[in-house]
Amino acid sequence: MRAMSLGDLGGTLKRIDGRGYKAYRDLEGVYALGPFEIDIAHVQGDPYAPPSRVQVHAGLEELGLSEYAQGPAARRLGLEDFLGRSVAAQVQSEGSRDISIDRYGQEILKRSAVRVSDRHLEVRLFVQLPAAGRRILGRQAHQILAEDLPQVLERALRAPGLDPAALTRHQDRSEDYQALVAELETRGWIGFVANGSVLPRRAGHDDRPLETGEDSSVVPFEAPATFQDEVTLPHAGRIQGMPVLPGVTLLVGGGFHGKSTLLEALSRGIYPHIPGDGREQVAAHPETVKVRAEDGRAVTAADISPFIGELPFGRSTQSFSTQNASGSTSQAANIVEALEAGARVLLLDEDTSATNFMIRDEPMRRLLKPGQEPITPFLDRVRNLYRDRGVSTVLVVGGSGEYFRVADRVVQMDRYRPVDVTAAAKEIAPPGPEDTAPFPPMSAERCLRLDRYQQRVGPKGPRIKAPGVGRLLVEREEVDLGACEQLVSLSQARLLAAVTEQLLEKRARAQCWTSLSRGCTPSAVREVFGELEEELLQEASRFPRGDLAMVRPLEMVALLNRLREVRVT
Ligand code: ADP
Ligand code: MG
Repeated sequence: MRAMSLGDLGGTLKRIDGRGYKAYRDLEGVYALGPFEIDIAHVQGDPYAPPSRVQVHAGLEELGLSEYAQGPAARRLGLEDFLGRSVAAQVQSEGSRDISIDRYGQEILKRSAVRVSDRHLEVRLFVQLPAAGRRILGRQAHQILAEDLPQVLERALRAPGLDPAALTRHQDRSEDYQALVAELETRGWIGFVANGSVLPRRAGHDDRPLETGEDSSVVPFEAPATFQDEVTLPHAGRIQGMPVLPGVTLLVGGGFHGKSTLLEALSRGIYPHIPGDGREQVAAHPETVKVRAEDGRAVTAADISPFIGELPFGRSTQSFSTQNASGSTSQAANIVEALEAGARVLLLDEDTSATNFMIRDEPMRRLLKPGQEPITPFLDRVRNLYRDRGVSTVLVVGGSGEYFRVADRVVQMDRYRPVDVTAAAKEIAPPGPEDTAPFPPMSAERCLRLDRYQQRVGPKGPRIKAPGVGRLLVEREEVDLGACEQLVSLSQARLLAAVTEQLLEKRARAQCWTSLSRGCTPSAVREVFGELEEELLQEASRFPRGDLAMVRPLEMVALLNRLREVRVT
């Protein structure tokens, strides 16, 4: 099909000006605009529907970007991320409210909004086509599509308008992060926090760094001498910082001294961050999972017996189901499910943990007779979780020294400065005789089945929405993902929704979904996500969408585990 010209676009808009909104459909097609090919792929049905989808194609050569697409995948990811942000910034600076692109945060995520291949760039945008009531406003539409849009693209995506130094820095950071993660693996570390990192955030609802400067109170991260090590990154060169070693690491210290902030930085260390974020040189093992208590969640046939013994009235905990878990049972379920899904590192914070799950102190042990307390606290399991399963833990515990005994390292946060207090802690509470009770073997992997949801799918197909980062609607059921703290973007929640849709679809798009739709074992989910890799963003939806971002199979399994009517075989 030959691309149409701007003249053709103008002609169509003149013709449909003032007509009913549906006539906008006549715009669908491909238009040539300098180096850009603009594909108006789907026009919204009415002014209140989700905006129209526009795909922009261009050759990297023509944009002067070829050289930036070379090299390892992390550089390409850096380029994609930079260009997407560049479009967002340009749209904003022109004050255009009708053109938009996916929303970018502090992380560099693989997104469907911008895709770079060897020679080619594709950008997926949204355009709100203007109307008065339901009548087409042709002249305004012309302004948006034929003037604003080309200007945005021209300024945001072509080499002369781009800041080459900023682009290169973006790519360097992305590549350095990948190198740091590779270094973790080589050295057997589970995390790393570089000296000079700025960990605190501006506010609870603002993920940008707390501002540094002369009269700022930010204390940049500085590893204690005893825990200091260095790595060499391709661009930053030699950097020093604190490796997090395998085993059990305890973060202690007074309230408000920066414990949770450090743990949070590690939890987000599974993602690369943009230059200026402060956490660019913080990395964590890719299979790190932050777990917390989550009372009220549904649990289906989870084996929580490593932590919870027989419940009142003899309820089994090897296959524990409830529609309303307590603090401790939910935390136990979150841990065993994370292990089943392949977590290698657990992060726990006292702020979000159930106390009775974490510890039971001596007086309480004396008071409760055997059989009166079903909980084996995490304290009694954390060592052998590492010894027998190789799963490391980093814990924030400021309120109890019981963990000194089982910790390999104790880091005190003292006015936002980490101090190595391992020796002092061990003197207070020397390690007891090695606990020989092995971490209980896990039951066979569960297969999570969605047939109850599949049966409900109507003729219009599955109804799944992601109204918030931590909220999903699956066939009217509201699923709370607030406890999955490592979901950082609405676009990730939309990907989870899109994948779930494939699993409920009668005629799934790809073979891989058909097999999962019969039942999902966590390892099968991992396999499919691993096989599809970058294509996941394409294969998850029936049409090209510009509002999806990558998630780990761990989060997908976390969603399936929280569905109230999932069945387990
Ligand atoms: P804790 O978990 O030890 O009680 P938090 O990690 O919640 O403490 O931190 C308490 C406050 O201090 C938060 O407002 C946080 O943003 C701020 N903060 C944390 N680390 C730093 C730092 N390195 N420099 C300045 N402020 C910090
Ligand atoms: Mg805290």
